[in-house]
This record gives sequence, C-alpha cells and structure tokens, in this order.
Amino acid sequence: MTRSDKTTRLLVVDDDDVNRMLACAALEEAGFAVDEANDGVAALAVYQERRPDLILLDVMMPGLDGFETCRRLRAQGARVPIIMLTGLEDTASIETAYDSGATDFISKPINWTLLRHRVRYALRASVALDELVRSERNLTAAQQIARIGSWEWEPDSDLCRRSATYCALFGEDAESFGPGMAALIDRVYPADRDKVREALEAVRGGQRYRLEYRIVRPDGMVSTAQEMAVPLRDAAGRVVRVQGTLQDVSERVDAERRIRQLAYFDDLTGLPNRAHFREALQSALLRDGSRGGHCAVVLINVDRFKRINETLGQDAADQVLQVLAVRLGQGYGSVRSDAGGPQSSDAPRMARLSADHFGLFLEGANGRDAVESEIHDVLRRASSPVQLGEQSLTLTLSAGLAFFPEHGESAEGLLKAAEMALGALRRREAHDAIQCYTEQMKVDAFARLSMENALRVALQENQFELHYQPKVNADSGEVVGGEALIRWNHPIDGRVGPDAFIPLAEEIGLIGPLGQWVLRRACEDMKAWRQAGLPAVPIAVNLSASQFGRQDLVGQIREILDQTGTDPALIELEVTESALMRDTRSTAGLLRELHGMGLSLAVDDFGTGYSSLAYLKRFAVDTLKIDRSFVQDCDGGQDDPAIVRAIIAMAGSLGIALVAEGVETVAQARVLQAEGCPVMQGYLFARPMPAGQFAAVLKSGLDKARSIKPAAA
Ligand code: C2E
Ligand code: CA
Ligand code: CA
Repeated sequence: MTRSDKTTRLLVVDDDDVNRMLACAALEEAGFAVDEANDGVAALAVYQERRPDLILLDVMMPGLDGFETCRRLRAQGARVPIIMLTGLEDTASIETAYDSGATDFISKPINWTLLRHRVRYALRASVALDELVRSERNLTAAQQIARIGSWEWEPDSDLCRRSATYCALFGEDAESFGPGMAALIDRVYPADRDKVREALEAVRGGQRYRLEYRIVRPDGMVSTAQEMAVPLRDAAGRVVRVQGTLQDVSERVDAERRIRQLAYFDDLTGLPNRAHFREALQSALLRDGSRGGHCAVVLINVDRFKRINETLGQDAADQVLQVLAVRLGQGYGSVRSDAGGPQSSDAPRMARLSADHFGLFLEGANGRDAVESEIHDVLRRASSPVQLGEQSLTLTLSAGLAFFPEHGESAEGLLKAAEMALGALRRREAHDAIQCYTEQMKVDAFARLSMENALRVALQENQFELHYQPKVNADSGEVVGGEALIRWNHPIDGRVGPDAFIPLAEEIGLIGPLGQWVLRRACEDMKAWRQAGLPAVPIAVNLSASQFGRQDLVGQIREILDQTGTDPALIELEVTESALMRDTRSTAGLLRELHGMGLSLAVDDFGTGYSSLAYLKRFAVDTLKIDRSFVQDCDGGQDDPAIVRAIIAMAGSLGIALVAEGVETVAQARVLQAEGCPVMQGYLFARPMPAGQFAAVLKSGLDKARSIKPAAA
C-alpha cells in the first residue's frame, strides 16, 4: 500500500446497495478513500463536492443511466478516468460507453480482487496521460513563443503531421492545411517553390537541410520562414521519416532589410548612397568591360549649395535636395544588372554621393557627344526653379564626367576622374557647366599636391615675407597708409605671388595659420617702426573668406594685437566684396565684433560683387577700395567714368572712405581726383616693397613723391 493510494479518492456509483457496498469495501481495503452515490443525479453532486480521482459507474440505473451520467460528468469538465460497470457485454453497449466518454469498462459479475488492479492501472494511465497533455501543451506554448512549428513527414506515404504552431505560422489550422507535401508547396511563394522542392528531394535522399523561403498566408501576407529538416532512417538505412522545424524569421529579415536600407541608401532622398553606387558601378564595369562597352560616370553638383544652406537654412536646403533627387532620378531609378548590386539585382543609375553631389551612371554610351547632350538634358530638366513656400529658388547644376575605360577602369578611378573634372569647374567658379575629365587635370592635381606639401613646409620654415604697398593722398603726396601683401620665397621657384598659392591655401585649410602669420608679421613690423620713432599709419591686412569659418578668429586676432601691443585703430581688415556676400549671416556678426574691438573694415575689389547699400550698412564698412578694373577705365578721353562717379557719390552719402586701387597713370589719378577720390594705391606711386624699404618711405616720404596736379586746376 503506497502513500498515494491513501490520498486517492474514488467515487462508486451504483443503485444496487449490495454491489456498491462490496465495491466500497474492496477498494477501502486496498487503501483508497471511497465516496458513494446511489444514482446519477447524486453522482453529479458528489463529484462536484469531493472531486474524486476516478469514478466507477454502473450502467444500469433508474433515472439517469450510467451512459448519460458519464456524458454529463464529461460535459461538466470532468477529466478523471471513468470505469463503467456493465452487465451487457455486447459490442453496442461497449461502444456507447466509449462514446459517452468512458475510459474503460468492467463487466459484471465483478472480480473484487481484480478490481483494485484495474483501478490502479487506470489511475496510472490517467497520470501518464495528464503528463503527456501537459508536456504537449508546454511544447505548443514554447513553439508559439519561439514562433517555431514542427512537422514530420513520411516520404513513402506522403503522410505529414504538423504542429498547431506550424499551421498557425501559415495562418491555418491542422484541418484547413490539408494533407501531404503538396499542401505546403501550394503555400510557398511561387518564386521559392523550386528550392523547397529541391530541398525535400535532398532530404529524402538522406541530406539534412536548412532553408529560408517565403510563405503566403490566406490573407495575402507574405512572411519569411526558416526551415530545418533531418532525415531519420530505419535499421536498413532507408529514410523513412523526416523531422523538421519551421521558424518565422520575418522580423529578422525586416531588420536586415532596414539595416541594408541604412547602409545602402541615403536617408534624405531615398536614393542609393555612395557605397551602393560604387558597388553597382563596379559590377556594371566588369560586365561592360567584358563586352567592350563604353560608359560614363557623371558627377552632378548643385552650384552654390553652401550658400543656399547658409541663407535659407538646412530645412530649406534639404527640401531642395529632395526635389532635385526626384527630378534627377526620373528615368534613372534602376536598371537591370546581371552582376547584381548589393543584395538586389537592380543596379542604381542615380545616387546621392555626398551633401550636394549626385552620381549618374550611363551605360553603353553611344559616343561622347550623345552622353554630353543627355547630360545637358538632365541638368536642364532638373534646374527649373524650386518652389519653397512663397519663395521660388532658381538653381543651376554642373557636371563633371569621366568615360570608361579611357579615364579609369575601376569605379573608384572613374569617380575620382569625374570629381577632378568637377573640381576644375569649381576652381574656375563656373556654374551651369559640364566638364569632361582630361589628362591635364591629373597633371594639375599632381602639381597642386606637390605645392600643397611645399606650402606646409614653407609655413614651417618661414619662407614667407610681407611686402607693403603705400596708400597715397594724391592731393598732398603724403603716404597715408599701407597694405600688407604676402610673398613666398620658394627655394627653387624663387618669389611666388599670392595669386598662385592663396586659393590653394584656402582649399586645403592652410589659410588659417597663414593669415595668422601675416597679421603677426605686420604687427611686429609696425612695432619695429614705432620703436624706430617712425610716423604711425594704418596698415591693411587681407582677410580671406575661408578665415571667417574659423570660430576662434576673433580670439586669435585679439591675442596677436595684445601680444604685439598694436593699437587696433591702426589695423584695417580688407575683405573682398564677394567674400562678404558669400556667407552673410555669420560674417556680419563677426565683422561687427571686430569693429567693436576698434579695427576698421575695408571692402576690397569693390564694384565686382554686386553688393547693395543694405549690405554695406549691415557690415559696418569703413572704406571701399574701388576695383582696379574701374580705375583702368578712367583713362580720361572718350569713356565717361560713370561707375567710378556713382561709387564715389554713394560712398559720400554713406560717409564711407574711399581708396582707388591699381592706379597706374597720371591720367587715371587726375580723373579720380576730379571726381573726389584723392586716396590711391598703385604702381604710379609705388609697387609693393619689402618692410625695410617701406620703413624708409615712412621716414622720408616717397622718392618720387609728388602731388598730382588736378587736371582741371
Ligand atoms: P589685392 O588685395 O587686390 O591686392 C592688390 C594687388 O594688386 C596686389 O597684388 C598688388 O601688387 C597689385 N597692384 C597694386 N598696384 C597695382 C597697379 O598699379 N597695377 C596692377 N596691375 N596691380 C597692382 P598681389 O600682391 O599679387 O596680391 C594679389 C592678391 O592676393 C591680393 O589682391 C589679395 O587678394 C591676395 N593677397 C595678398 N596678400 C594676401 C594676404 O596676406 N592674405 C590674403 N588672404 N590674401 C592676400
Ligand atoms: Ca587687398
Ligand atoms: Ca583689391
């Protein structure tokens, strides 16, 4: 007698008092706790109250018979074993017993010794069944959580057993799924069916597999499944069964797609990005190369994009790029490529390569002329005005292009060549233009590169020198100021003028340190002149546009002035008109700050940059330097100096001082004088000269110093 027998509770239901009593006695003797009921209705009540572990139920009872009682017990949710006690040993009543939910039956007369064994057996089977149910339920739950379904297949009979989760992953249940492997194939995404069939063939032949394929649910949803299957063999080694799992990996696949989107596409425009473009280009070249074809790589630049960004703000600039991306992408979305781009087999033809650069790839180009005219069309189509709210923005595009295989055999090489062509346009400040790569560009690029290195060395080894050009009041012949102009004493090439290296220094970010050097040098020269007791005149120093970009410009200037003990009122900063116009927002603030420190500001090359009165006021300008080109037109004689006259009148009305640049002849000087601009700078009076010579000029005036006698006087 085991402990569990003691706690096991039975219910004996029989209308025959003797039978019932004997059954109870036999079972109690075997260690069970026994409740009894003498009809069906009582049995239901006792069941509710005592919750027995097993029920012995007589079939023949008045009122509710055993079958009906059994049925009602099951309907109430009773899952315990129910053993029917029956005197009718015909098959019909046995079947009725099972149909009504009985677990087993014992026919009367009952062998009381055997009864206890039958009861124990039924109890054990019921526990085992319970456990099985529980573990199956666990398995199903686990499958649901992992979104893994399991299946079994007998290839010979094509019998398939599929778990509930498996069917659910297809949006079906076991019945709606249908039998056999054909039912699966029907649900596989058509393009993936062949690979599923092949895998099944292989596993039948004894090979395990792991496979990803798409499935189509009844609602049309497509998901991605990962399936693994292993063959099971009989003793003779024949594959008799295949066991498999199927997992829904749609989320992972989606995540991968999103990652790919991030890695291969530009966020803002949705166009393929540089990495994608380069890979696709490379594989197209491999293919085209083998066909001996010609193709072109085109780099499209949005002219003056930086300025759009700065004046209208980034949101507007982003909108412009989006509009352009749509326009440029039209007709160039994708093209089929045998080699295949990353993941997809569609190679992009239009891509966004960097902030304001788009890339285009033209295949099978029918000669350069055809390509160039196609590009002209593309640019023209894309450069119609862009509407930004109320505002209509006109923009232009430029393109650099390179041909395969002449200008490069790799994607990288072609992109570089097209970039060089674009760089040549940029240096020429050309807009709305197309430039094809030439070999000369490589030569130039190499020269620039070596000059770049030489410039860095020059700064370290102090190869620079400042020359000063006097500013003269032509009425009196007096030197009223000077402009500091940089020179490079190149160890091999000799003296190099600033036009040859300032643009490069700007481009490579060397203008910052170079500008600092110039200001410091000028301040130190002024200090030396001061200490020599020479008369103090304001010295002008040129400031390049790219120096404004540096956040610490104001701090650096203040430090240099402090360290050299220079009076800020004696330093004039010359900024070209075009530099002022380039970056209006930040420049205005910066210049006002410098002005507040006591420095004065001159607009260089005035008249060439289309600045307006409003700008001049905003920038707190002290002096305008009339550009040499207008001065040259003042040769007297036929041309009326209308522009110079207008500039002088405007400066007068704004209270801004004037200097005429590049005065070479007495005739020019006379006209300027007559119009009311007596301060001049030019070869007529003096060329730029070394500091020592300028000191001598400060001491004793210009050699040739003479006042110009006004023509009219
Ligand atoms: P800029 O500021 O307009 O300087 C005047 C230029 O005209 C100087 O050329 C000067 O030598 C030249 N010049 C003066 N008088 C005459 C004349 O009567 N006839 C002619 N044809 N030319 C005359 P330079 O020294 O070659 O400088 C060229 C440009 O390089 C300057 O133009 C200025 O923009 C830039 N530059 C010079 N030094 C510096 C510097 O230290 N920093 C920066 N950022 N730029 C500088
Ligand atoms: Ca200047
Ligand atoms: Ca100038």
